[in-house]
Formats: sequence, structure tokens, C-alpha cells
Amino acid sequence: MKKIPSLEILLASAALLYGCGSAENGQTAAEAGDPDAAAGNPELVQPSEWWQVHPRPVYETLEKVGTYQDWFDVYRLTEGTYAIYEPNQFEEAISYLVEGSDRAALIDTGNGIGDLSTVAGALTALPVSVVLTHEHYDHVAGAWLFDHITAYDNAASLARMAEGRSNESLQQYVTDDYLWKPLPEGWDPSTWTIPPIYPHELVTDGDIIDLGGRTLEVIYTPGHSPGSMSLLDPVHRLLFTGDHFFPGPLYAYPEDVVLEDYIASNLLLVDRLDEYDWVLSGHNDPWVSSEVIPRVSQAFETILSGGGEYSEGDGLRRYRFDGFDVLIRADMVEG
Ligand SMILES: [Zn+2]
Repeated sequence: MKKIPSLEILLASAALLYGCGSAENGQTAAEAGDPDAAAGNPELVQPSEWWQVHPRPVYETLEKVGTYQDWFDVYRLTEGTYAIYEPNQFEEAISYLVEGSDRAALIDTGNGIGDLSTVAGALTALPVSVVLTHEHYDHVAGAWLFDHITAYDNAASLARMAEGRSNESLQQYVTDDYLWKPLPEGWDPSTWTIPPIYPHELVTDGDIIDLGGRTLEVIYTPGHSPGSMSLLDPVHRLLFTGDHFFPGPLYAYPEDVVLEDYIASNLLLVDRLDEYDWVLSGHNDPWVSSEVIPRVSQAFETILSGGGEYSEGDGLRRYRFDGFDVLIRADMVEG
């Protein structure tokens, strides 16, 4: 077991190389039942001046379509596949518009800042229906703007979405710590809520979402959360992972994470590696080579067998890997 001696140096380099990724989980570490972790060592989860990672190099390589509301940066990834990126808030949420011939799917809906429906309307003339990769606030918050919502059929996940979020509970995500650019003009955080979400369509593992001439296969990948699914576009060889994988610190410690499920989902996606070339994740970077997926699986194995390099504070560890980190509690590793 190797422990990095200097927390400050590690965090500085991690922030520069990978960014801090997303706070995610729709809750702070404290809310997740782990008060010591974030309260005692916030730098592990959200380094100060996290915005120094910008601009992330990958975006130089992508075709930029435009910026909407001074908030949403849109990139065309393939014909009919757009990443809608929100770089100005710590979550760095990414939603994806995927066009078929009959309709378009909007995979996730950001954290509800700005008006995502007008962005989608500017990008496609097709009817747009929402597909939610999972129930966390920074994926579902803009869903209420759309007429049709699809989600995974999991009771815990659906119950969480049905709760919605109050204005008060969301204020923590628009503090100076979370923002490094102004909020969209005309968007008022004092009226920001997430209305209860009741999906119109529920899917389970193996279901096919048909957009007309283009399909998305539902692959159930729980672990990050109970209702987490990935979506496979087999023709374009794209895998949308939500938060099962994103190139930042993967959250293996909050209360709704089930580590055994996370590991099983890793193995499932490794098994299907010959079906996709690119991973389109929910945060930070929309275009990651699929070779990362077996390395994520290996990383969990390394951590749980006592290996890996990490920094630690108040029982929380941040393990460092090439292109991603893993946040996990020491007691989860040591048993
Ligand atoms: Zn999440």
C-alpha cells in the first residue's frame, strides 16, 4: 500500500490533470451520511480553484457548434450526436442530444441552470424526449422542461426523483465555490427548484429505445446509484455511461453507492468492450476512448486488494489513476 506523503502536491496535480470532476451525487458528502469526509477535508472532494482545469484540452479537438445563454457549450461528436456541456459550474454536467430519424433523445438534463429546452430546440427539429441515466440532481433537474421522460425501473431511484428538490436545498450549488462564471442572464436562482419527476416510460436491462433508424440499448449498471443505466448506440459504437464512469473522481463512498454492484457493472461493461469505441459520460469530458473502461475495473480491484496511490483525510481517500480518480472511505477498503 502506497500513501502519497504530500496531500497538497497530489491535489494540485490531480486538479490540473483531471480536474476535480463533479461534486455529483445530488448531495454533499455530509448529506450522504459521511460527515467527516467532506466536512473534514473538502479539498479531497472539491479542490479550491477547481476552475483552473479550464479549458480542458479535449474540447480543442471537438467541433464546437456554439454557446447558448452564455452557459451551454455545444459540440457535435458525430452526425446527430451533440454534447451539451456546462463548464461554468463545478459539476461540469454534460447532457447529450441523440438524433434518430423520428425523434431525438436527450440523455440527461443537467442541473437545471438555464433553459435546456431552448438549446435542444435550436439543435434539432425533431421531437425531443428525455432519457435519464440516473436519479441524481445534476442529471434530472432540467427534465421537467420536456414532455416525455424515460428512466430505469428501480423503486429507490424513482422514489428519489419523485421527491424533487426545494429551492433551499439547491442553493449550495450556486455559491462562489461552485461557480466561476456568471449564471445565465434571466435565470433566477431564488426560484430554482426541481419539481417531482414521474417518468412516462420505464425501461429495464436489454430494452431498446428506438429513435427511428437509431437505437439505444439499455444496459443496467447500478453501483453509482440504484437506478444507474448506461446506453449503447451500437451503430455509432458509443456508450453513454452517466456517472458510472466520468473522467474525474468516481464516487465510491456515498450512501447510495453499492460497491459490489459498481464492480459487477464494471465487469459487465468490460465484457462488452468490443461493442463501443467511445465513452460519453455525464461530466467533464464527453469523448473518452473506451480503453478506460477495463482500467476502471482494474482500479477498483487494485484499491480493494490494498494497492494504489492515494491521499487521505478524515477517513476519505482519493486514489489517483491515469485519467480518473476514485473517492472511497478507508473503512471500505480495509474492511
Ligand atoms: Zn450521479
